[in-house]
Amino acid sequence: MQAALAQLKEHLARVHDLLAAAAVLEWDQETFMPDGGAQPRAHQIATLRSLGHRFFTSEEVGRLIEDLQPALADLDPDSDEAALIRLAKKEYDVQARVPSALIARMEETERMATQTWQKARQARDFSLFRPELEKVLDLKREYVSYLAEGAANPYDVLLDRYEPGITSAQIEAVFTPLRAELVELVRAIGAAPQVDDSAARRHFPVDAQMAFSRVVAERIGFDFEHGRLDLSAHPFTIQFSAEDVRITTRVRENFLPYSLMSTIHEAGHALYEQGVSPALYRLGLYPEPLNTGASMSIHESQSRFYENVLGRSLAFWEHFFPQAQAAFPGVLDDVDVKDFYRALNRVEPSLIRTEADEVTYGLHIMLRFELEDALINGRMQVKDLPEEWNARMQQYLGIVPPDDSVGVMQDIHWSAGLVGYFPDYLLGSIFSVQLWDQLRQERPAVLDEVRRGEFADILAWLREKIHRHGRKYTLPELSERVTGGPLAWQPYVHYLKTKFGEVYGL
Ligand code: ZN
Repeated sequence: MQAALAQLKEHLARVHDLLAAAAVLEWDQETFMPDGGAQPRAHQIATLRSLGHRFFTSEEVGRLIEDLQPALADLDPDSDEAALIRLAKKEYDVQARVPSALIARMEETERMATQTWQKARQARDFSLFRPELEKVLDLKREYVSYLAEGAANPYDVLLDRYEPGITSAQIEAVFTPLRAELVELVRAIGAAPQVDDSAARRHFPVDAQMAFSRVVAERIGFDFEHGRLDLSAHPFTIQFSAEDVRITTRVRENFLPYSLMSTIHEAGHALYEQGVSPALYRLGLYPEPLNTGASMSIHESQSRFYENVLGRSLAFWEHFFPQAQAAFPGVLDDVDVKDFYRALNRVEPSLIRTEADEVTYGLHIMLRFELEDALINGRMQVKDLPEEWNARMQQYLGIVPPDDSVGVMQDIHWSAGLVGYFPDYLLGSIFSVQLWDQLRQERPAVLDEVRRGEFADILAWLREKIHRHGRKYTLPELSERVTGGPLAWQPYVHYLKTKFGEVYGL
């Protein structure tokens, strides 16, 4: 077994390096590459990724994975080796069952659909986008047909690609009761006097914002020896190894949270990536290596933990607010820390998901989850999407988009083929609160640590419980291991009601 394992690791190291090299090019494309370089860069990335795919799906790798299956019986299921053999088989089977010609067709169609989506959004005309989206979804259904064996709902196949071990039935069991609670909370907040957020809407010079963002990111634990912070159109985190994790942010001069909270969010993702055990290094499973975050929702649980649970808490700002006042001389002198905290937690139904507050955010996600599920199952047609979207916006948030560019066409996800991805944003938010509750139970003085600006022990706890495991465990497994129970919506509702009940005096 040891010989086969060593051989497999050697193959996977090459896969890892190819994927990491492609990731460097992707990072460069989003940060420093001149726009004119887009076409050749797309070829370069595609070549590296397809080589990674070819190495991973080679007969040799398949044979080694099969040879190692009997060894699973003797291995500790929690060992790195067992996780590697288990996950390698799962990924190999998926890659082997879906014809590569279909994957190529999907990629080409999604590339075209994304270009059309951009034009259609600019023209505010869904009818331009509609035929392209239909093609993307037809191919998704074809893709699902190769993997749907045993799935209760074909949509579960897509969910599983981003969130292993979660089904649409499990998500519905969480979302359905949560939706009623959120709708009610949004209405109650809407009836209360609105919070004044003008303190966050003053003039904050770009350089000072970037400098302050760096201070905050470093304080919460982001390691600049093993990472960078740069600007890009859309904030993101990307890793080439745990030793080199890049984050980006964006800046609006007249709205501080826009960059600051994005930076904290991405730093939360990066802390996760920087904390994966070195023992998982260079285990390049395709499409994601073993030394990366477990899943989309676990990743979001980390980013939202830092952004919302910590970063939008009063305790956090009791530490950082004097530094913010010093970072922006004269701008915040007349502001009280409590007013600043309230400004960061203003709740208002709005059209755009990425700019939504903590309370309304979940409703944006539920809407997308319901539509995706219905589209993949053929209960809804693409032509009806705008109407269905707007009806739900009215029902959940009480507002209707004036046109589809700020409605059904606002996100890049569907054109890019990311179907089954949205629910994870909310699952992550829900889990972040369960983690916070567990942390406070184990370390009752943790809030005082936050007030003093001490984040090392919080990070150490997350490293121990979550980060070091990389992709070893699924969300249900991690939830059981860390909190002793399954994913639950009740703590999340309790957290929101307590926090925003206080902010809005409900
Ligand atoms: Zn995120």
